[in-house]
Amino acid sequence: MTRTTCPYCGVGCGLAVVDGVPVGDVAHPANFGRLCSKGAALKDTLSLPDRLNVPMMGGREVSWDQALGTIAAEFMRIRAEHGPDAIAFYVSGQFLTEDYYVANKLMKGFIGSGNIDTNSRLCMSSSVAGHVRAFGEDVVPGCYDDLEEADLVIQVGSNMAWCHPVLYQRMMAAREKRGTKVVTIDPRRTATAETADLHLALAPGADVMLWSGLLVYLANHNVLDREWILRHVSGFEEALEAARNAAPSIAFVAAAADLRMEDVRAFYEMFAGTERVVTLYSQGVNQSSSGTDKVNAILNCHLATARIGRPGMGPFSLTGQPNAMGGREVGGLANQLAAHMGFTPKDIDRVGRFWQSPQMAAKPGFKAVDLFEAVGDGRVKAVWIAATNPADSMPRAGQVREALKKCPLVIVADAWPTDTTALAHIVLPATSWAEKDGTVTNSERCISRQRAFRAGPGQARPDWWMFAEVGRRMGWDKAFAWPGPADVFREHAALSAFENNGARVFNLGGLADIDDAAYDDLPPVQWPVPKPGMGVTGPRLFARGGFSTPDKRARMVPLQLRAEEDVAAFSLTLNTGRIRDQWHTMTRTGRVPHLMTHIPGPSIALHPRDAAARGIADKGLVRIENEHGSVVMRAALDEGVRPGDVFAPMHWTDQFTSSGPIGRLVHSVTDPISGQPDLKGTKVRIAAIAESWRGHLLRLTGGEPELSEALWWSKAQINSGFSFELAGWHPLQQEVHSEGVLRRLLRISADAELVSYSDPRKAMFRYAGILHGQLAACIFFGPPGADFTGVEQAKNLLGKDISPMERIALLAGSTGRGEKPVKTICSCFAVSEEKILTAIRSEGLTTPAQIGARLKAGTNCGSCIPELKKLLHSVPALNAAE
Ligand code: SF4
Repeated sequence: MTRTTCPYCGVGCGLAVVDGVPVGDVAHPANFGRLCSKGAALKDTLSLPDRLNVPMMGGREVSWDQALGTIAAEFMRIRAEHGPDAIAFYVSGQFLTEDYYVANKLMKGFIGSGNIDTNSRLCMSSSVAGHVRAFGEDVVPGCYDDLEEADLVIQVGSNMAWCHPVLYQRMMAAREKRGTKVVTIDPRRTATAETADLHLALAPGADVMLWSGLLVYLANHNVLDREWILRHVSGFEEALEAARNAAPSIAFVAAAADLRMEDVRAFYEMFAGTERVVTLYSQGVNQSSSGTDKVNAILNCHLATARIGRPGMGPFSLTGQPNAMGGREVGGLANQLAAHMGFTPKDIDRVGRFWQSPQMAAKPGFKAVDLFEAVGDGRVKAVWIAATNPADSMPRAGQVREALKKCPLVIVADAWPTDTTALAHIVLPATSWAEKDGTVTNSERCISRQRAFRAGPGQARPDWWMFAEVGRRMGWDKAFAWPGPADVFREHAALSAFENNGARVFNLGGLADIDDAAYDDLPPVQWPVPKPGMGVTGPRLFARGGFSTPDKRARMVPLQLRAEEDVAAFSLTLNTGRIRDQWHTMTRTGRVPHLMTHIPGPSIALHPRDAAARGIADKGLVRIENEHGSVVMRAALDEGVRPGDVFAPMHWTDQFTSSGPIGRLVHSVTDPISGQPDLKGTKVRIAAIAESWRGHLLRLTGGEPELSEALWWSKAQINSGFSFELAGWHPLQQEVHSEGVLRRLLRISADAELVSYSDPRKAMFRYAGILHGQLAACIFFGPPGADFTGVEQAKNLLGKDISPMERIALLAGSTGRGEKPVKTICSCFAVSEEKILTAIRSEGLTTPAQIGARLKAGTNCGSCIPELKKLLHSVPALNAAE
């Protein structure tokens, strides 16, 4: 058995790999054996096709030596001609800490620029900035156990049920036992909000006001811990005065945040009346033009009540990516140095001496948005992108693509082809998580080993090795001479303890001397891990002060409302985020058929009132646009979305839909302190598209459908091939029905039989390609709103023998078995909506627990439990019994 970690979210669940199959590790302190739908489907991603397995330059295969030699030579030339700031790295929260450490050392210590940033900038850099402002250091003060020991859990801008499912289930299980109250603060009624005792669907941008109002309420009701403030906090009076200015009364807050006064008061009373409070927050707080202020507004309330670092109490930033925290430890962000040191003269000198650096970076580098602007305007002449896909995920993704097209040298290291590798001059094949060896740190500061349990394909190599090899080829052989990741880890641990007299909480000195065997066997361990007597330890920090500021006091931050928080200024506001079964740009999860059945295509959720005002029907095609571009999706009417807001998943890319990522439209506004993009506040307009026809294509191969009639498509992997949903807003041309066009569309050879059925009166046409008695492909065309009966049956037949009767049924639009689209509610056990509804109706089930006992749905990760509740409510006859 090999113990390793899940490569998706920041919960950091442990995996035990037995006979090559990863399952939940019962011994891991994050998940105790549980996995969510994505983690449970990891086994299905191990052998995905199309891996990058050989270095490529200009589209040609080359040796590693050629590729790395070219990169090193180009870096030296560019550095000599244009200075170190003409080179940049853009890396990833998917990196292991060792990858991050080596890339950061190469850029900041040897190339001599601060220009390394990470996609974690888009994820939690506002939390980092908020922590540094309040605590003097980027430290999460609590641990996961606090969620189980709290009496009140507040979830702010966090759809935990879908995005951190295993932790959500730990919290919900504890709630069952101790009756924990749960408040969700989120403009959307998400799956998480569905299960809360109180949901505050506040207007976007009103968070600082809401939390300032809470601080005022706590002061007015004498709930502050004055003695603790006196001993451990500075800035209290200024912060309270600013809060009184921003949020003078509950009535004022309620009106400005578009909430009911009684709900705001109920929230304030719950916080004031409960000592054990944990406030969880993630992207809804961080991805904002005032994200850092939002974080500090939350921290202010916890500091003023001393609810920090004690069991069941504290603010808790949930990280999005598996190793966002590890990246923060080694300086993966452009404004950090390494080991929680910054760009002060003392820190630059200290790190420079430790690294024996020839040329330390003297100032922070470009943050993500600025970095790609600098690529676009030529200040950056070479960029190395690794384990991330900015051509889809960055704000104004279209401009990022243009910038990369203009850049003289684009290097991309990844495991699979993406829209970014397509723009690279040099593509480096990277090992993927199952093949990599190193460490990751989860949201509760717990370092876990990621252990390789299979070999990478072809010539794929780990990222740390690539950066080290380039460093050696640039002439710094000794500084980049690690034989393996254990040596990198020891150096990283030693740097954290170097001249660290307790000024920095982050300290791994106790792990700096472990040998290779101890590194191999390293169990999950929460930092800080100093040498004995050299610093604080423990799962909870700061209960007795000891912050990382010169006077050891925390700083409460006076907060003003920014102009962006004038909620009246928002019109139709685009919020982007994750859905339950997909991960980032779908390079892995998008290829697992059963993960594509929960939400099979890109859609934008909007309130029925906004839809009606624009003549938009549910599932109708809409164009979303602003000055940055235009994207086409299906509409999903949703009363859980506030009027004036719309929500679209961040995941779909050019590989999966014709109009590409929603990131094309996202504005480049950033938080002025953290530089984190505001991914939740882009203004857009939406208009219905009058569809002229609809279609459905099934075939064995992917690739774009070859049709030109103003075509929109989205693609989903199915068991034996691909399913394409098609639509167009210009009439289908007659030649679409010609044999040549159809064979091209279906991608069938001349020896395949082409059979058809047509009903021109109803504008319904069905074609199928049969090769050697097997269904090779089929395509259905129909009028707008057409319901293609038979599609689900055809999915089951694709690539299989097809009998004469099945052939007739297929062309006739059979209503036989397997007709309804299969919507998977429980991905862990592949339980469909239809099966659950049938069981509810026929067996009188009235609770999720009964559904679980009958069908297993909801009994693993539990992230479908809110949907099970919805289904129970959708069967009216049984509602009363629930
Ligand atoms: Fe992986 Fe799911 Fe655990 Fe996150 S909650 S680490 S995605 S198994």
